[in-house]
Amino acid sequence: MIDARTLDHQYDEENLGFPEPPKAEERKLDIWEKLSLSLVGLGVLIFIVLLFNTPLRGTWLGFILAFAPMVAGGALYFWLSYKNTVPGIKNDGNFYKNITSRGSLGWVAGILMTGFYIVLYWWPQYLEGGVRLVDPSSYAISGAPATHWFLYGFIYTLALIVFGIRMLMRYRGNRYQQIRTLSVMFFQLGFAFILPNVLMLFNQPEYYFSYFWPLKYDYLFPGTVSYLANSPGGFGVFFIFWGLVMSFLAVPVLTYFFGKRWYCSWVCGCGGLAETLGDPWRQLSDKSLKAWRIERWMIHSVLVLIVIVTASLWINSVTQGKVLGEFSGGAAKWYGFFIGAIFSGVVGVGFYPLMGSRVWCRFGCPLAATLGIFQRYFSKFRITTNGGQCMSCGNCSTYCEMGIDVRAYAQKGKNIIRASCVGCGVCSAVCPSGVLKLEGGSFKDRYKGADKPVQAFIDSIKHVP
Ligand code: SF4
Ligand code: SF4
Repeated sequence: MIDARTLDHQYDEENLGFPEPPKAEERKLDIWEKLSLSLVGLGVLIFIVLLFNTPLRGTWLGFILAFAPMVAGGALYFWLSYKNTVPGIKNDGNFYKNITSRGSLGWVAGILMTGFYIVLYWWPQYLEGGVRLVDPSSYAISGAPATHWFLYGFIYTLALIVFGIRMLMRYRGNRYQQIRTLSVMFFQLGFAFILPNVLMLFNQPEYYFSYFWPLKYDYLFPGTVSYLANSPGGFGVFFIFWGLVMSFLAVPVLTYFFGKRWYCSWVCGCGGLAETLGDPWRQLSDKSLKAWRIERWMIHSVLVLIVIVTASLWINSVTQGKVLGEFSGGAAKWYGFFIGAIFSGVVGVGFYPLMGSRVWCRFGCPLAATLGIFQRYFSKFRITTNGGQCMSCGNCSTYCEMGIDVRAYAQKGKNIIRASCVGCGVCSAVCPSGVLKLEGGSFKDRYKGADKPVQAFIDSIKHVP
């Protein structure tokens, strides 16, 4: 019999004295895979050379030479390495590969990604070479020279697309995974990169339609609202309207029908990067009860914080600073620095190789907290489990990026109704027994007490089981 501590991931076979199982034989790369990786390597070299002030920097030729070999080599490599395999998800060797199991390469990747964010936020002058390299594309889309934020958006979108191709190949045979990967690629490229820049080309505010308050925290700050309201052509007023509708109408209504997944796994750029670039590290999320407790405290605290900051800014704005004085401005700066920059950027992406791919979504994102509350208490969405078929392999828990111990629910045959579940569907995809199904059935039969969601919500705050 499996005891409770094992089910709770408190120890595993190695800690019980079992020897390490033999390593799977490493797959040998064929000549084309080697060539595609060489192309990536060559691309990195060219990119580094072009960072220096060469005559090619700032030209279309320089732009193509700097990025095309890396992008083409990466995409080709992912296509080649999966195209001849049997459709189905392969997680072979994840816990043996140095880079995906917190080995030295994983740490190097984590340090490089964290370092990039630190330079981006606090020393952007060191990115000048890269910024000038993307100038031609910036002029073409926004009519202005590139900034470090344009470079960031460009790299972010490229990473999401190249690793999106990896997802499309890796999850061949699973339509849900493929469609939602195409969806995040589309929203990132169209709504979070091209459209905001094209708006600038027409002298309109740079507006991101796929992000809303409280994730895009400053969109409902009085300063942003007044700036948008006074922008030329009246488009800004529409942007304010859009933001309000998305935050206060679309979030509850769409979450009622589809659960949190409509946003976290299909639209959001943060989730999109986690699902593509972050996919190789999804198994590193902490599944312990302690992590779950910390997660609940942290994510809801961030939500409370941003509500307080936004409200205090409005009070200050209406009373012209008579009530709160300097407090609200300071609080907004504090939030922007610690939550907006350090938590969501540096830790949120930089720590993929160490803590799994959804650190920000799980522990920090205030929009995820809001969506989670609706999902938990007012949504039709649930993951149903056919307990009799579960063979306790634990694949589902292992690959849940949100640290949910899916197996514990499956073994009991209980529906999974968790606020944090982003509906990525990977637990269901990796289950060898077809136990788990993402469904949107009747609202009332999700769990005992679902017919009284408000009472269930109050009870959960009071810790009534
Ligand atoms: S429970 Fe399943 S669908 Fe939900 S986040 Fe975890 S792996 Fe994704
Ligand atoms: S992956 Fe499927 S069979 Fe394995 S523990 Fe999870 S629900 Fe059970």
